[in-house]
This record gives sequence, structure tokens and C-alpha cells, in this order.
Amino acid sequence: MLGEGILKGMVETARNFFGSYRSRERLVTVQYPEERLPMKENARNFPFLVYDGVDAEKGLRCVACKICEKECPPQCIYIILERDEKGKPQKHPKVFDIDLSVCMSCQICVEVCPFDAIKMDTEFELSCADRFGGLLVHKPQLAKSNEYYHQLHPADAEEVDARLAAEKAKAEAKAKAAVAPSTAKPPSVPRPTPAK
Ligand code: SF4
Ligand code: SF4
Repeated sequence: MLGEGILKGMVETARNFFGSYRSRERLVTVQYPEERLPMKENARNFPFLVYDGVDAEKGLRCVACKICEKECPPQCIYIILERDEKGKPQKHPKVFDIDLSVCMSCQICVEVCPFDAIKMDTEFELSCADRFGGLLVHKPQLAKSNEYYHQLHPADAEEVDARLAAEKAKAEAKAKAAVAPSTAKPPSVPRPTPAK
């Protein structure tokens, strides 16, 4: 029926308007910024980098593989690999920037990261006077703890922790198995019978 969608929308608006006098469930608007509604668990805005432990630099899960940089549709991730004094590449980003003025919150970077190192934040109060430089965020601003990730997306974070722990245990078991033959007692070789 022509206009059915508009009618349904008006009915829902009327239900919320009159219902809000009787139930807080129907109160869909609040006096922001004094009042704030809690964020939904699946809310997302811009990406951040997860670190484990207390050291935001050393604990970064990111290994600078650059997969997210390649896959980001608007190309707003910039990564420079860390190198040691001999120029050998390290599994760590020296520079990790995201241009939030370009990011379209698609979450592709999160989906392609094999290390669960990048996740979506829910922070949205990011307005600033500098439209370009102010929205180019650097590694120290992007690094946020695993505890923070748990606060935002508890179910996902639990699942990731369990998976990472299982992978770590598997890798340790494999490493142990690889070392075991070299530490095992060598097979005994029969001694030659002395000549008479
Ligand atoms: S965030 Fe993930 S995909 Fe991107 S460089 Fe780091 S480890 Fe690779
Ligand atoms: S959310 Fe999308 S646009 Fe934003 S950095 Fe990730 S891949 Fe790029």
C-alpha cells in the first residue's frame, strides 16, 4: 500500500512519545551531553590498537604485517615497520597512524587482522578545530588496553582471549616437541669388541 511505511513510522513515533511518560524503555532521547545512553555492545566508530599487559608500546599485538593497510578501502592507515640498528625488520610498528577524517568505519581492518590487534572503538566525541592534523591519530593515541576492549565488547573480547590462549598453548606444545628429541638421551651404540 502506498505510504504504508510512513504510517508505520508515525505509529512508532507516537508509541514512543506517549509511552515515554509511562516507561523509560520508550524514552529514546536524552538531554545530551548531561545525560548519556549506554553504548550497545555492537556499536562501532573508529579503530584502535589493542595491547596486552601494562606497557602500551611493548604489549602491542600488532606485528606490522600491513595487511590492514593494504585492505583498507580508503587507504587511511599508514604503517612504518620498526627496524633494529642493523636494518633488520622487527615485528612491531614504528609508526601506525589512522586518518579519521578519511576512515569510513567499515571494520575491514578488524576483520582481516590475523592477530586480533585492531578493534573498533565506540568513542565518538572527537570534534576538533584542526580538520586535517587533528584527526590524524598516532600510535600512542590508538593504543588501548585489552581491559578497555573488554569494557566495550565483552563477549568478543572473551572469545578472542580464549582463542589466543589456545593458540599460545598449541605453539608452546609444538616448540616443546621440537626441542624434545635433541634433549633426549642418544641411543646407545654397541661397543666394538677389543681385538685379541
Ligand atoms: S593491525 Fe593487524 S593487520 Fe594491521 S599491521 Fe597490525 S597485525 Fe597486521
Ligand atoms: S574501519 Fe575501514 S576505513 Fe577505517 S581504517 Fe579500518 S579498514 Fe580503513
